[in-house]
Amino acid sequence: MLKVVKVRIYPDLSQKLALAKAFGSCRWVWNHFLNLMNKTYQETGKGLSGYDVKKLLPHLKKQEETAWLKETYSQCLQQVCLNLGVAFNNFFERRAKYPNFKSKHGKQSLQYPSNVSIKGDCLNVPKIGLIYSKIHRPIEGKIKTVTITKNCCNQYWASILYENGKEKPQTSTDGKAIGIDLGLTHFAITSDGSKFDNPKILKKHEVNLKRKQQQLSRKQKGSNNRNKARLKVAKVHKKITNCREDFLHKLSRRIVNENQVIAVENLNVKGMMQNHCLAKAIQQVGWGQFCTMLKYKAEWEGKVYIEVDRFFPSSKTCHVCLNKIGSLPMDLRYWGCVKCGTKHDRDINAAINIRDEGLRILKTGLTSSGNKFQRQPLTSGTGDKACRQTASRSKGGRKKSTTTLVSGQEAYTVPSGLGSSLF
Ligand SMILES: [Zn+2]
Repeated sequence: MLKVVKVRIYPDLSQKLALAKAFGSCRWVWNHFLNLMNKTYQETGKGLSGYDVKKLLPHLKKQEETAWLKETYSQCLQQVCLNLGVAFNNFFERRAKYPNFKSKHGKQSLQYPSNVSIKGDCLNVPKIGLIYSKIHRPIEGKIKTVTITKNCCNQYWASILYENGKEKPQTSTDGKAIGIDLGLTHFAITSDGSKFDNPKILKKHEVNLKRKQQQLSRKQKGSNNRNKARLKVAKVHKKITNCREDFLHKLSRRIVNENQVIAVENLNVKGMMQNHCLAKAIQQVGWGQFCTMLKYKAEWEGKVYIEVDRFFPSSKTCHVCLNKIGSLPMDLRYWGCVKCGTKHDRDINAAINIRDEGLRILKTGLTSSGNKFQRQPLTSGTGDKACRQTASRSKGGRKKSTTTLVSGQEAYTVPSGLGSSLF
């Protein structure tokens, strides 16, 4: 089973310099070949594949003006070419937007497809050397891809993908089932009656963030002080992300530990974001990320994660007699069923319906719209973040990331959502 661990690394000054050069070279190669691909297509109507451009690398290294490419580990540059090919494939198969040029500002990344090893407290990276790192959990198995990133707060991280040599556990549906209704006032409401408050993390940091953003806006463009202020804003954003992920990890871990079958509503986050009154609240709540966490955590332990169709009327159906009512205003939290007289808490009733519908789908193998239900593979990165920088997409989009097999070796694009979520 493939696993990812994201560890913080602490390069020294000379290593930071070497990494900066490597980030720059990879970015240059990406931008150069993306431009070349665009041009070739415009001129000849034919596209170039990742393999085609990879073959041009040795030629570039021989040329005088691009000889500095030799300073970067060759496999990283080759990986950039292959990743570019994957980005185009994702675009053509409508999973992602058209590949973008990479910017010198903001997050930087670099991928080592092999030859990175762990020595004691350090990560042994080709051409860079031993980088001190905080390896907070044992990494046992064969290390495959290592992605080194530098974020906007100038922190360095390494996402280590490794094969732990264990088989994926058999999935079984024997055990407790739970339905989860996701909301804004309560983050999650479960079918056994628990309500988990929405932590509203953004609200806690809003004043601080606003003050620092104002300070930033007053600084002169291109100045050193502006850079310092920018770093302060980035740190607040990082803090918010950390708090949210901490909450989501703890809750999803608890739900997965306590249950065998987990049913969640398949939310149309993108559509809901169009309601501008709720957009900010929906964006910060992290439903998509939560579902991704539930999904992979369930899969690791042989448990079942199932999504119920979003058009399934979970709120409007009485879970006792299955009587469907015509309309239910948003602000009505409690209602009584006219047929059987049961008093319902709106959200708990919905969660119970989601659980029952999930179990029905598992039993019959049919979704509510009559389509055949297919269990999705674990590799589908349905996080908030795009699987790669270029394949950017709107928040909460639920699309699959891609893995392609490259000449006997897996060119695995570590979904950054998955990587950080394992941290
Ligand atoms: Zn009823």
